[in-house]
Amino acid sequence: MARIVMKFGGTSMAGTERIRRVAGIVKRQQEAGHEVAVVVSAMAGETDRLVNFCREANALYDRAEYDVVVAAGEQVTSGLLALHLQALGCKARSWLGWQLPVRTDDAHAAARIEDIDSQALLASMAAGEIAVIPGFQGLDHDGRVTTLGRGGSDTSAVAVAAAVSADRCDIYTDVDGVYTTDPRIVAKARKLKYVTYEEMLELASVGSKVLQTRSVSLAMKEGVRVQVLSSFIDESAPPADSIPGTMIVSDEELEGTDMERQLITGIAADKNEAKVTLTRVADRPGAVAAIFGPLAEANINVDMIIQNIAKD
Ligand code: ADP
Ligand code: ASP
Ligand code: MG
Repeated sequence: MARIVMKFGGTSMAGTERIRRVAGIVKRQQEAGHEVAVVVSAMAGETDRLVNFCREANALYDRAEYDVVVAAGEQVTSGLLALHLQALGCKARSWLGWQLPVRTDDAHAAARIEDIDSQALLASMAAGEIAVIPGFQGLDHDGRVTTLGRGGSDTSAVAVAAAVSADRCDIYTDVDGVYTTDPRIVAKARKLKYVTYEEMLELASVGSKVLQTRSVSLAMKEGVRVQVLSSFIDESAPPADSIPGTMIVSDEELEGTDMERQLITGIAADKNEAKVTLTRVADRPGAVAAIFGPLAEANINVDMIIQNIAKD
């Protein structure tokens, strides 16, 4: 028997038929003899819709209230999945971020998980109940709802897996693994059997959104075994143990498996980058810190910094 955390993304949760299919996959995994917890995303497009409501309400919206609004998408899908599982005869219940709780810092809209109280989850799983947890949301120290940044349900899933010492964290999505590049852009992309944490971290941080970057660094730090696989599988497909998705593994685990491993694992693209050029930055100690300090405090990622001295 293994303990498995299963995560289903937005496309997998988009509507009644899809959630029913997800419930079937979860049920089969439990029937294979495993303890199961599930982390879910909001339905595809729902978080965008909620973000737009915030923008329409107030262009300079308060991030704490934004979190109250956007966390709602995952609350809906976690309740619905629990209902679908119950309809299939499973014992299931939802555990919202504030109920567990999933403790985070107070960086609203980009919060970091500090700790997950796993007691209730472990007891629930040991009693044969399927715990359904909304991804993306947490609770700060003032008791306010937080969210983890876009794509954050991956990070929630890995954090839950670490908290319950899961044997594996299966990330179910709309492609059947990690490819050499985005298979929706390049038809010839090849599926990779294994990717190391470091490689995945690099791919994710430069735009491969199949996993949120922070979920990969967390998995690497906590030693969580992550598998990426498709939820768009046949009703009669066997449980995930025998479906070859892509395993994210450590360098050591991969050593010796393939002498001729390629030097380049994959290529990523990102259409959602902003380039900012600052000119006439004073050449004195502290000038760079004065620029990047506030950005770091606001949890804004800077992917690439190019510095040069130019004379005008
Ligand atoms: P989910 O809603 O399940 O979290 P995402 O849309 O966040 O799914 O991530 C899955 C998508 O990631 C795929 O549909 C694919 O277009 C994209 N993607 C980008 N790069 C890759 C890659 N190297 N391998 C697989 N998928 C990739
Ligand atoms: N629903 C959130 C988003 O769309 C989190 C997630 O799906 O991972 O960003
Ligand atoms: Mg995603």
